[in-house]
Amino acid sequence: MLNLVLFGPPGAGKGTQSQYLVEKYGLMQLSTGDMLRGEIAQGTPLGLEAKLLMAEGKLVPDAVVIGMISNKLDANKGGAGFIFDGFPRTVAQAEALDELVKSKNEAIAAMIALEVNEEELERRLLERGKASGRPDDANPEVIRRRIKEYNDKTAPVAEFYRNQNKFSSVNGIGSKEEILNSVVAIIDSL
Ligand code: AMP
Repeated sequence: MLNLVLFGPPGAGKGTQSQYLVEKYGLMQLSTGDMLRGEIAQGTPLGLEAKLLMAEGKLVPDAVVIGMISNKLDANKGGAGFIFDGFPRTVAQAEALDELVKSKNEAIAAMIALEVNEEELERRLLERGKASGRPDDANPEVIRRRIKEYNDKTAPVAEFYRNQNKFSSVNGIGSKEEILNSVVAIIDSL
């Protein structure tokens, strides 16, 4: 299996690049953000718990997202591999993911980070909010809170993979095709 973590701040382009990689390598995309929005849309207790935190731009508890990922891994055995998009977002999540894949005799092959400066992130998220209607993309204050959460809690996750010699990064500014080419070059060198 080829298991990849696509990493970067909100608005870096993880979702877009994940979709290309799904097509190119036949991987399954696991986006905890999409799963949480699905729970909210269905009005589940988990969705109700997550909704307020997401609207404020705060991370939801580790146990919630780890549980969702664990269920997805159990339900999708024997595929080409997974792209983790928006997960892990804390070091505790990264440790839990290592344990989950190890228990299935699998491993994370690489983390690939998309690098985009904060000014560009804010611009992209506000633009996306106009089309997507995502409440957390519409409000500059919430966007800044999400970027702060990323800097405080998520950025250290890069170190976790760097220590395992699994970290690579690409410039996340440019055309979608240029960025994809950089990502593919890393994957094909694994
Ligand atoms: P995203 O679609 O990845 O930008 O996620 C939207 C929101 O969902 C985030 O701002 C968090 O509130 C929540 N979320 C998504 N993934 C995670 C995660 N791995 N850990 C904690 N919260 C998450």
